[in-house]
Amino acid sequence: MHIFCDYCGARIDTDVHKTCPNCGGSYSNDREVLDEKVRLDKIGELDIEKKRLELERMKIENEKLRKGGKANTAAKGCLIPLVVFLCFLGVLFIVIMVIALSDTGENDRKAQETLHRISDLTYSFSMEPVPVPDVPDIPDIEIPDISVTVTSVPVVTVPDISVPEM
Ligand SMILES: [Zn+2]
Repeated sequence: MHIFCDYCGARIDTDVHKTCPNCGGSYSNDREVLDEKVRLDKIGELDIEKKRLELERMKIENEKLRKGGKANTAAKGCLIPLVVFLCFLGVLFIVIMVIALSDTGENDRKAQETLHRISDLTYSFSMEPVPVPDVPDIPDIEIPDISVTVTSVPVVTVPDISVPEM
C-alpha cells in the first residue's frame, strides 16, 4: 500500500520500504498503516474462520456418508449385489440372444451366397455311387512243405564232481 510520511510527506510504498525512503522516519504508528493492519488481521481471521467452518462441514458430511454406508450395508447389504448380478445376467442373456440371432442370419446369408457362387460356376453334385474298377483275381501260389528231421543228438559227458560233506 501507499502512504504518506507523517514527517516529510513523502510517498512510501509499504511493500518496498520499511521506513520512509526520504527522511528515514518510521511509519509503524501511522494511522493508515494501523488501519490496514487491522483490516488485514480481520481478513485473516475471517479466512481462518471460513476454513474452520469448511472443515466442520466436511466432517459432518463424512459422518453422514459413513452412517449412510453403514445403513446401506446393514439393510441392503446382500440385496443390492444380488439385484446387480441378476440385472447383469439379464443383460448378458439378451446380448447372447442378439449375437446368436444375428449370427444365424449372417450364416444363412453366407450359405446362400456360396450356393449362388456354386450355381454360377455350374458345379454339380451327385450322390450316385461311383463304379469300382474290376480288381484282377490273385493267382494261387504253391507253397512247398518244409519239414525238419533231427538225425543225431550230440552226447555231452558231465565230469563226476564229488562235493565234500561238511
Ligand atoms: Zn519521511
